[in-house]
Amino acid sequence: MIVGPPNSGRLGEVVRRLRAQLDREPVLLVPRVADADRFERALCADGAPVTGVSIRTFAWLLEDLAAALALAVPPLLSAPERLALARAATREAELRLLRRSAERPGFAPALVALIEELEAALIPPTELADAAAQAEGGEYEAELARLYAAYVSLRDRAGRADLGSLASAVLAQGQRLADAWGSRPLFVYGFDDLTRAQLELLRALSGAAEVTVAATYDDREALAAPAPLIADLQDLGAELELRLEHDPGYSESPLLAHIERNLFEPEASAAAPDDGLVLLESAGGLGEAEAIGVEVAKLLATGAEPDDVVIVVRRADASGPLLGRVLARFGVPAAVEAAVPLARTAVGASLVALCRAAAPDATPRDLLAHLRHDPAFPAGIADALERRIARGEVHTLEEAWASWERPPRHLERLRAAPDGVAQMEALARSARELAQCVHRRQARLAGHGTPPLEPVELRAGDVAAALARELAAAGSLAGCAPPTLADAIEAIRGARVPLWRGPTEGRVCVLGPQQARSRPARYLFCAGLCEGEFPAAAPRDPLLGEDRRARLGLPALRRADAAAGERYLFHACVARPTRRLYLSWRSADDDGGPLACSPFVDDVLDLVDGGEGAVERRRHGLEHAVLEPADAPTPRELARALAARGLARGTGGELAGLELPAAALAEVRALLDSVPDPWALPGPLTHPGVLASFEERRVLSSTSLEGWAGCSYRWFIEHELAPERLEPTSDPLWIGGAVHKALKRLYADPPGDDAIPRPGDLERWQRRFAELLEEEAMDRADSPERAAALARARAQVDAFLAEETRSEAEFRPRPDLLEARFGFEGENEPSAPPLELGDGLVLRGSIDRIDLAPDGVSAVIRDYKTARKVPGVAAFEREGALQAQLYALAARECMRLKPIASLYQPLGATDKRGPRGMAVDGDERLQALGLTGTDYLEPGEFRAVLDAALDAARRHAARMRAGDIRRDPAGGECPRWCRLQAICRKERAFWREEGGDNGGGAA
Ligand code: SF4
Repeated sequence: MIVGPPNSGRLGEVVRRLRAQLDREPVLLVPRVADADRFERALCADGAPVTGVSIRTFAWLLEDLAAALALAVPPLLSAPERLALARAATREAELRLLRRSAERPGFAPALVALIEELEAALIPPTELADAAAQAEGGEYEAELARLYAAYVSLRDRAGRADLGSLASAVLAQGQRLADAWGSRPLFVYGFDDLTRAQLELLRALSGAAEVTVAATYDDREALAAPAPLIADLQDLGAELELRLEHDPGYSESPLLAHIERNLFEPEASAAAPDDGLVLLESAGGLGEAEAIGVEVAKLLATGAEPDDVVIVVRRADASGPLLGRVLARFGVPAAVEAAVPLARTAVGASLVALCRAAAPDATPRDLLAHLRHDPAFPAGIADALERRIARGEVHTLEEAWASWERPPRHLERLRAAPDGVAQMEALARSARELAQCVHRRQARLAGHGTPPLEPVELRAGDVAAALARELAAAGSLAGCAPPTLADAIEAIRGARVPLWRGPTEGRVCVLGPQQARSRPARYLFCAGLCEGEFPAAAPRDPLLGEDRRARLGLPALRRADAAAGERYLFHACVARPTRRLYLSWRSADDDGGPLACSPFVDDVLDLVDGGEGAVERRRHGLEHAVLEPADAPTPRELARALAARGLARGTGGELAGLELPAAALAEVRALLDSVPDPWALPGPLTHPGVLASFEERRVLSSTSLEGWAGCSYRWFIEHELAPERLEPTSDPLWIGGAVHKALKRLYADPPGDDAIPRPGDLERWQRRFAELLEEEAMDRADSPERAAALARARAQVDAFLAEETRSEAEFRPRPDLLEARFGFEGENEPSAPPLELGDGLVLRGSIDRIDLAPDGVSAVIRDYKTARKVPGVAAFEREGALQAQLYALAARECMRLKPIASLYQPLGATDKRGPRGMAVDGDERLQALGLTGTDYLEPGEFRAVLDAALDAARRHAARMRAGDIRRDPAGGECPRWCRLQAICRKERAFWREEGGDNGGGAA
């Protein structure tokens, strides 16, 4: 054994010894294939390339040995085949306690993982069964042993092998194994623990050859995690040959060297601060990635090489992709050494959705999910499907299918497959096509030529196609059922796709702490130092938890101390950089919720004289939607930073003041000119064609004009843009229309002796209204919500009719003045002339109801509203109410009537049901209507309100025809029910609108 702490020269010692024994064909064992690449470089680092060394992983070595021993080892099982055997074992084994769990997705992968662990620990099914029999209450463990035994039996019956059986076969050769190996020296480097099978292999080989294990170890708290490995090796009879000493000169920063040497030591002293340590505090995942990206870009700009920089994250698979994207955006060459779940790639997600869509219980949403991930599928057709689903027009996948002349090809192919094997073949084909079609002609991005190559998607296509083929093969194993689409989903969910392949020279590496241990770095960023993230919680085994492991009493199944492991990994990050260590954490999540910093940061700061206050800290808060111009690493980022500060168009002067090379300046200018001014607020229309069409409008509707008065921008969106709703026609609109029609028919043909309900015939009126409402609306009351809304509307009108029975007023509705129209001459239904607004403009409309006094001319105008509250005359201007006045004007000017009241009737009212509006004070006939006192106006005021409304109508009409739309809600405040901010951007830009340059008023 050669042991020593980090920075003690273990790698150099191993390389030196390898070089010294080249003539004996030495073999070096490393944990992963990627480590082999790295070691090759270390062997050639000093300009004297070395040949004659074989670098192997354990699995690779086992295959070499089996070949050398001429063992008849059957082919190794693929991952889907192991899963298929685990499922078959679950069907064969007699289960009671595990029966329900075994039916869940995820059980087979967990069982395969446990079997691999048992095999690596050289625990056969019989030993597990014996341990279970002796354990108190070991029935659960006994079932696991039965599952394990069933798997092994199925594997052997199928005539196949796995790594466990391969290791057992090789180890069973005893002396033959040592003889076959001969005297080739074996070096083992980079391991922090070894399984029982690996240890036994080393023991066997050490019988014939010299085996040297180099391990990171020192009698320190930070390096306690590998202590069990040293003990295991000593149990094998290994001797400590060399204990290497720490080299304090490894770092240019005395502070860094002090931290590395004393981290986690309880009695350690503090050292003087220097620039070897920097703290980065940011907010949100993107914020942290950008903060790191900015620092990396600055390092590269000031002479550092990309190879000098390493970024470590505790879970590179989860955080690495975002860091990789940000570094690419900042023009930093990077390699993210991580693997993303296949199901999170576009190809994987599309295939999972495709499998779901082909299942018997598939929903249209499953199909939609698949189509959304197929880049070759026309987005418009997927949009149409989504719209139909949202409107409740499509309930089953078969309905969607029937409406297509050419159904989606992937699903068509999958549905046509006659059996599981054919389905897997179809999936394999779809996987490749989905990956490739991004680059086909039909998927080009408008104006951008060929889309950029997405290697990870192409890799995902390959991985998924291979999985599908392996699944098809798994079905032919003895005892295994044919593959199903559920199996395919499980296999896709369990597979991963590497984000990076190939050499990483000339790139900033993003990796996990395990990989970082053997990576040289001048600058190292340790990211994601948040509580719960690093140190990470101990992983939990879904099938065999810590208590059960302890009860079984099998030492090889005991888990390492997770907390010591986390300390060891963090120490590896601290020990790598020779120039500077950046500790980065997020103090807030993406929504601004607080996050606590990792205790590891405090452990480091305890070793600095002056603590936290003595260390440079850089902050990147949520307010940094864009970078500071001085931090911008690329012209594009600079353009974003400037644009956000309003330095967009016409700012040649400000740009000239920037110290930039001419080419970069020109690029920034071009970028700024290529985008619209981000601060341009929506405002008056300018397109000549649109303005001309507005100008042509001579006939305006009073409803439309009232909408304009409420907010001209809302009018523009609803009336002109008329966005189509995804959901069914909104219920208030639909119910309002039905109620209006039913009321018109009710009063046109009253069910009693009078034209309005009287106490003696109320029930008849209410019954008749219910019949009419049903006729108008029941055909569309196709959901419980709508049926309930209709019942509510009926109850409201019943209450209104009951209220009307109490009225002793002499006004009566005249059948020909129900929905009385003006300005519609020339159409089929009768109409009065339009209301003249002057300047060639006319107004038209339809008045819900006009009640006349016995004199035949004194009129009370009523406008039904389904709202709970309606405005009185004092609130008309504040709420943009115009219809009551315009209807009164129309009654006077176009119908030759004498309006004495114009009222909004709140059908939706729950307590105050009385109408509100305006009425002539002093007219005794109105007293019986029970109006609110403040709604009465002196005759002169009454006329003045009408004149003012006419003026307002003219002003609004002139603005409307000029396209002068603004975000100008009546009263300066947007009503809560208006949900159009996403289009008008009233709220998003509120800080720029104070003082109102366009519409004014805070939203
Ligand atoms: S949110 Fe306000 S400004 Fe925008 S359309 Fe609605 S009422 Fe008008």
